[in-house]
Amino acid sequence: MKKITIVGTGPAGLTAAIYAARAGFKPTVYAGLQHGGQLTTTTDIENFPGFSSAIPGPELMAAMTKQAEHVGATIIYDTITKVDFSQKTLVMWAENTRIESSVVIISTGATAKTLALPDEAKLMGRGVSTCATCDGFFFKGKRVAVIGGGDSAMEEALYLANLCSEVLLIHRRGEFRASKIMLERAEKHPKITFKTPYTVSKLLADAAGLSGIRCLNTVDESSEDLPLDGLFYGIGHTPNSEVFKPYIATDDHGYIRVHDYTKTNVPGVFAAGDIADPVFKQAVTAAGMGCQAAIQATKYIEEQGH
Ligand code: NAP
Repeated sequence: MKKITIVGTGPAGLTAAIYAARAGFKPTVYAGLQHGGQLTTTTDIENFPGFSSAIPGPELMAAMTKQAEHVGATIIYDTITKVDFSQKTLVMWAENTRIESSVVIISTGATAKTLALPDEAKLMGRGVSTCATCDGFFFKGKRVAVIGGGDSAMEEALYLANLCSEVLLIHRRGEFRASKIMLERAEKHPKITFKTPYTVSKLLADAAGLSGIRCLNTVDESSEDLPLDGLFYGIGHTPNSEVFKPYIATDDHGYIRVHDYTKTNVPGVFAAGDIADPVFKQAVTAAGMGCQAAIQATKYIEEQGH
């Protein structure tokens, strides 16, 4: 039986692996479908401490993986498809392989929703982004748009308004899900212009990356092309918690509920990173939670006398 099994290889999972390995527990880490997590879809990262110049997301995640392996973690490139957390011994399956573990740290992250437009994947990091805090700095003094009508979109637009020359807030309806205070703040901001009821039907590009968008009026179906330097998706995230839901308590949006830092409702199961954090969603906060989960996991094992 394994002592510590970590699910997910974003900053939370790999930091948990580093701490658990250095505490002598030889953790096994299941990489999941997207090894390295959301940062592997980002180009330059400038807000992860320790690098004097920007580091590409895939490079940062490759370095974290190497570091985890160097201190004794084993990474398995497989995906957990089923769990049984009904007994003290926690059981998971990676396809047909049965895994037994004293402790599980869930760090499966959240996936940013996108519109899945043609060329979107190609333009991700080249004008299209799912995170203003991560990429806004690269659009200083430029014209950008944010899609969405919830709190995330308002927050992204307000963040970008401090950096960019102009922010278009594009939403498919005239009504907003955003809280009154966030909506009002965005509406009052002199650099934010609301464009409703519109959605984006096409990404326009040149050799350098995104050059604009085609907007579609969702009522009269008219369309217009707008030149833009950047487009930010603020249409929410999907936490990757589905496989754990039969046993692990989540909130209405699917984020795992944690108490006392990283403990879930099942003893021995801890959660760290974006899967348990609907608010901050940063690599550095995920890494911090991964550290907390590993320390709490090792304490749990000692207390249980495993
Ligand atoms: P959300 O409330 O679900 O809003 C998502 C927005 O994206 C909605 O306006 C939705 O439009 C739009 N959308 C979804 N799919 C779309 C598509 N295919 N095309 C165009 N538009 C689309 O998600 P969220 O803003 O991420 O917020 C999630 C939760 O976190 C909320 O409870 C929120 O309050 C909370 N949150 C709080 C803060 C804060 O307090 N600072 C910040 C961020 C998030 P429709 O309205 O038409 O469906």
